[in-house]
Amino acid sequence: MKKLVIGNWKLNPATAIEAVRLAKATDVEGAVLCPPDIFLMQVGETIKKASLGAQDLFWKDAAAVTGEASAVQLKQIGVLYVIVGHSSRREELKETDELVNLKVKAALAAKLKVILCVGEDLDIHKQGEVKTRAFVLEQLKRDLDGVSGGENLIVAYEPVWSISTSNTNLVDTPEEASIMIRYIKDESSKMGFDKVPVLYGGSVDSKRAKDFLSRGIIDGVLVGKASLNAEKFKQIISLV
Ligand code: PEP
Repeated sequence: MKKLVIGNWKLNPATAIEAVRLAKATDVEGAVLCPPDIFLMQVGETIKKASLGAQDLFWKDAAAVTGEASAVQLKQIGVLYVIVGHSSRREELKETDELVNLKVKAALAAKLKVILCVGEDLDIHKQGEVKTRAFVLEQLKRDLDGVSGGENLIVAYEPVWSISTSNTNLVDTPEEASIMIRYIKDESSKMGFDKVPVLYGGSVDSKRAKDFLSRGIIDGVLVGKASLNAEKFKQIISLV
């Protein structure tokens, strides 16, 4: 399988004009573009080669719930991938593993490809490898509880302390990330998710990408900040 490069635009850009411009500039084979919901349609109409992804979904269809988007709604505008359980949602919106689990199930039921984000924060990371592994395993178990048929499941290992930190020296290394990704693959396999692709995410830019993407064990990268810079993002995609 070709390695995946996912661009998570988060709350950027500010305007539809800029969103369309960025989509045009990064419309290349192998890229998955995840704009904010408000720009999904315009980005979807713009791209010809890249795939469309959403940053989140709600787990019910046609419910009396305000301000959300369902799997069915996302699908009908051409969304193929959806990020679930991103650490910014777990932190800022207090999204629990139980909610993440409902979202994973809803997305898979709608045949969306799920990018499930897991990863430890700095506090846990500082407690060492045993604690880190236990934390990530617990996340996986809770998030995937009762989930079957994982052919559309992708896991992204995103150590929270390494996200958006390219201005500090606090970033995960390809060596350490590879060890965790091996562990995630082994544990996922024991849970019945054989051959689940596992990506790395955390301050991947055009310089760091090569080191991660050259590791056989890492099936791709989830890119935040650098996905907003067309040149940098295209350089990353050119590596796969
Ligand atoms: C992310 O948002 O998932 C991410 C990895 O961001 P950044 O690349 O900016 O660290």
